[in-house]
Amino acid sequence: MISKILIANRGEIALRVLRACKELGIATVAVHSTADSDAMHVRLADESVCIGPPPSRESYLNIHQIVAACEITGADAVHPGYGFLSENAKFADILDAHGITFIGPTAEHIRLMGDKITAKKTAEELGIPVVPGSDGEVRPENALEIARQIGFPVLIKATAGGGGRGMKVARTEEELENAVATARSEAAAAFGNDAVYMEKFLGKPRHIEIQVVGDGEGNAIHLGERDCSLQRRHQKVWEEANSPALNVEQRMKIGQVCADAMKKLKYRGAGTIEFLYENGEFYFIEMNTRLQVEHPITEAITGIDLVHEQISRGVRSRPLRQAGGYRLLRSRHRMPHQCRRSAHLRPFPGHDHAFPRPGRPRCARRQRRLSGLPHTPYYDSLIGKLIVHGRTRVECMMRLRRVLDEFVIDGIKTTLPLFQDLINNQDIANGDYDIHWLEHHLATTSA
Ligand code: ADP
Repeated sequence: MISKILIANRGEIALRVLRACKELGIATVAVHSTADSDAMHVRLADESVCIGPPPSRESYLNIHQIVAACEITGADAVHPGYGFLSENAKFADILDAHGITFIGPTAEHIRLMGDKITAKKTAEELGIPVVPGSDGEVRPENALEIARQIGFPVLIKATAGGGGRGMKVARTEEELENAVATARSEAAAAFGNDAVYMEKFLGKPRHIEIQVVGDGEGNAIHLGERDCSLQRRHQKVWEEANSPALNVEQRMKIGQVCADAMKKLKYRGAGTIEFLYENGEFYFIEMNTRLQVEHPITEAITGIDLVHEQISRGVRSRPLRQAGGYRLLRSRHRMPHQCRRSAHLRPFPGHDHAFPRPGRPRCARRQRRLSGLPHTPYYDSLIGKLIVHGRTRVECMMRLRRVLDEFVIDGIKTTLPLFQDLINNQDIANGDYDIHWLEHHLATTSA
């Protein structure tokens, strides 16, 4: 049994994990850089440890400091949140060697999915459909031959990729050499690894991802999908569940494929299997072996607390696994009738002066900090998420329009005006958008 969890993260996700721990009666340790001494997760935790100066690599990515903080405080488990060390297999190994539980999958599964070529091979072996592409790494000398086999247009992607970086499209043979070279140098700069691979570039797909949870012993369930097609620079901006593009049968079919694959893998904890979806077909692109930013919309439609599940399934699996069967049935029944939105508000550094709470019902806001504190330039610019739900998609849209109207963030520039524009857009209202829609919309309007 876990009695004390160290939360190796900051901001909104650190608070979210902290609240789940409090509900489960588990003591919490916050770690923070000197830039975050006054942060809300530090104030609300039972104990806190300063682990270094503001740059992430000296604090939130500093494995030695975090392990030392566990030892000083007697924490017996670490929740990594998302980002930072959440998909770092070495971190999971080191914690294991110190007898500290990593709340997440095994280091082996993190490694398997962390390299995108291995992840695609594994997915294929597990019966998951994948995007047509190269079998392995693509080098300047074999790129043309592989691209001809796949057929143009093709996408060059970093094997260590993440956050949409190291990705380049080549529409013709002439564009290929440059696309491979740029993707390789971007990948080297971003990930310290210049290996790239190639995929068929899908023209008008949606991004649809399936939430899975496993207990590490061969039991796994899926919790439906999230549609994350509204993207800018390959980064998600707005998500909804259920996807307006899927019916119940399609949802259950792809969900079952994912759950069966996770059973075979004996996957432990929460994970997300990401697909592109075009002309009725699903194509695996990657798996995230951690909680995702947009996880609350799944929680809103299923009523399942994913952090509770992560903590319980990995560690105290038996009682909750039994309860899990019941919960899944309940969520299956409810899912087709509900719809969610979450909005990521991405501000520029500065101070905000007002951050009022939009009124309930069926609206939640997850914010990462206290109003009035400065936004630092050191970390991700996400300041909060807005999650709205309703019985139908239309009800959800009406509520979101009202909530966005009430929402005021003063003193800093945020993406709020973008959401206020999108909520009044007819394509969004119709659910008629793909992964390129938002960039096209931004390029053709003044939004
Ligand atoms: P990352 O790990 O960098 O986020 P992903 O593989 O998850 O990379 O892809 C991120 C986004 O890039 C997808 O949601 C989609 O918008 C776009 N993308 C990825 N692969 C393809 C593809 N084969 N064709 C078209 N778009 C793609």
